[in-house]
Amino acid sequence: MIKVAKFGGSSMADALHFRMVRSIVKDDPGRVCVVVSACGKRNKQDNKITDLLYLIQAHRQYGVSYDEIFNTIRERYKDIAAELRLKFDLDAEFDAILEKLKGDIDVDYLVSRGEYLTARLMAEYLRYAFVDAADTVFFNYDGKVNMEKTTAALSEAARKYGRFVLPGFYGTLPNGRIRLFSRGGSDITGAIAANALDADCYENWTDVSGILMADPRVVDNPRPIKRITYEELRELSFMGASVLHEEAVLPVKEKGIPLNIRNTIRPEDKGTLILNSIDEEPEGDHLLTGIAGRKGFTVMTLYKKQITTDTLIVRRTLEILEACHVEVQHITLGVDSFNVVMPTAQVSDRIYDIVSEIRSTLSPDDVKIQDNIALIASVGRRMVSVPGSSARLFGALGANNINIRMIAQGSEEISIIVGVENRDFERTIRTLYEGFMDKEEGNA
Ligand code: ASP
Repeated sequence: MIKVAKFGGSSMADALHFRMVRSIVKDDPGRVCVVVSACGKRNKQDNKITDLLYLIQAHRQYGVSYDEIFNTIRERYKDIAAELRLKFDLDAEFDAILEKLKGDIDVDYLVSRGEYLTARLMAEYLRYAFVDAADTVFFNYDGKVNMEKTTAALSEAARKYGRFVLPGFYGTLPNGRIRLFSRGGSDITGAIAANALDADCYENWTDVSGILMADPRVVDNPRPIKRITYEELRELSFMGASVLHEEAVLPVKEKGIPLNIRNTIRPEDKGTLILNSIDEEPEGDHLLTGIAGRKGFTVMTLYKKQITTDTLIVRRTLEILEACHVEVQHITLGVDSFNVVMPTAQVSDRIYDIVSEIRSTLSPDDVKIQDNIALIASVGRRMVSVPGSSARLFGALGANNINIRMIAQGSEEISIIVGVENRDFERTIRTLYEGFMDKEEGNA
């Protein structure tokens, strides 16, 4: 069983966390490739190393001294090394970075040092080889990863060293320069390594015991999701649940590699398992997989008699919106009208121009605009096949006097989306969660 285990910044925050990571890694000989983020926050007031490195760059730009920030970073690494009795020559590394800072240092190179040094220390602590992402993760000039070259290099590293630590978040451009992924990009490095090594599982270790069924800021103690398909995860992420870096899903999904989100400080929890498909539904899995939503949408309703036989107006409307670079989130079609849902932020200052163009070129019977709409998706692969699911959902909303302004179904029919007023957002999520969970309490 080959596993790629990626540990996020919170799992690398200090020596205590390094110890936890070591015990997790050593607990399973399958964990052959360990991908690490730069040290994250030790507490709420603390700073992430990556943010401090970006801050150094900002200070340099404005000609302000960055000595204090630099020394803070140096001390954090030295504290970890001292506590774990590591021999790696951090001073030599920091002195070299300082020297480069005096010249024309590349910002991606500077920021990548967070992951680089964390991986160096972890490799020594685990007694695993250190494999630099600069030598094994390759970008094309268009910013896409060259998977062929990367796979060859990572497979070679695995063959040569057996077990190794790989820094996340960066790779090399064809001209040899370091390039970063976007923020949170160590998730992507882990997924790429899992793909390259044909891993049996990609473990993503973080500070929560998996993906929660709803936002904990809205619902008290939401349960973690045990199993979820990649499609369901996509629906939840699209509707605002922030879980993994979006680009981290594709490399593992493509090869059908299960992705397991785990909690470094509670390794006994099984976390969330993300799979391509779930054929057998184990007893006790919920009808509802998760709820996510976002506020701030505008619904434009166009009225035209027998719109279903004259869909040209639909196409033209979408063309007008496309020309204005407006992202259409949902479309629902009725007999004499259709709704287009758009992010308010993208249309607020030009909605009247858009409407007047639609009126003058397409002559609809009427056009109405509704702002302050929130969209909430209830996602669940089993909801389609279980009769009464939508009755339960709408029943719960009705019983709580929540006025539904719009209903849509997500792709693959695995989600039901309701549009409500922004002010009903939190109440709707709580009602849906409780409506589903209460009745399932017995078999949870
Ligand atoms: N250290 C980087 C960040 O904070 C990358 C990562 O943690 O995944 O965004």
